[in-house]
Amino acid sequence: MAVKVDQEACIGCGVCADICPQVFEMKDDKAVVVEGANCDDAGCCQEAADSCPTEAIAIE
Ligand code: SF4
Repeated sequence: MAVKVDQEACIGCGVCADICPQVFEMKDDKAVVVEGANCDDAGCCQEAADSCPTEAIAIE
């Protein structure tokens, strides 16, 4: 499954990177997907998406 962070919607709270550091990291005060990471390997992706206050994380 591919995962994306909407850079417009992200407010840089860091919650996703705390919950799921395998997939999300902070860069210039926004969350980005770690290069090469995907949600098939990481069991924490959905939890991170559900915890995002602005629903900026899309899992496809
Ligand atoms: S949880 Fe949402 S708003 Fe917070 S850093 Fe991650 S993508 Fe951005």
